[in-house]
Amino acid sequence: MDRVGSSYPQRVSGEVHVIIGPMFAGKTTSLLRRIKSEVNNGRNVAMIKSSKDTRYATDSVVTHDGAKFPCWALPDLMSFRQKLGEDAYEKLDVIGIDEAQFFEDLYDFCCKAADHDGKTVIVSGLDGDYLRRSFGSVLDIIPLADTVTKLTARCEVCGKKAFFTFRKTEETKTELIGGADVYMPVCRQHYVNGLTVVEATKTLLESIKLHHHAQSSCLEAAASVLE
Ligand SMILES: [Zn+2]
Repeated sequence: MDRVGSSYPQRVSGEVHVIIGPMFAGKTTSLLRRIKSEVNNGRNVAMIKSSKDTRYATDSVVTHDGAKFPCWALPDLMSFRQKLGEDAYEKLDVIGIDEAQFFEDLYDFCCKAADHDGKTVIVSGLDGDYLRRSFGSVLDIIPLADTVTKLTARCEVCGKKAFFTFRKTEETKTELIGGADVYMPVCRQHYVNGLTVVEATKTLLESIKLHHHAQSSCLEAAASVLE
């Protein structure tokens, strides 16, 4: 689009696209696919991910199956413009954001980038945590979005469509970064069954006061029964 020759003094208007779903649903893969197609269309692109997630690499977004794209690993989004530099930000057409649930300033950033700066923002993140509650600010930006795509994974127990992320360990903090060692995608039935098994195991363990090691191996045993 030729902005210089446009009869409008305003730049082109921005867009917000949101990709949500449980873990292992291919959200990052889908984000990378869209970003690469923007690059192929000659658009100027930057990717941002949270500096909280250091599982694979700090300078690139990596999918569970190993695809890569260079990125900025940042603690927040508002610092991005300054880090990138005014000139580079000005030239930018598309901003990809991965693991968006970790960014508290997601709403303000998307608003500013799309409404005022004319950027296309493509956001990928978890809609829900392991307790199926809203995770971070991801759901807050749905009213800002042009499109919303909810992806599904495969239930690790039965192979049907999985909508939820089940945590296999006893850890209860919301932000626990991990892969297949900690989480598994499950369908509704196996999410509910899993909770029942974990609850029953906990009650049993508390009553016989086993030490911590035995607790975790027992929970693992419970998880493997489900599988
Ligand atoms: Zn299932």
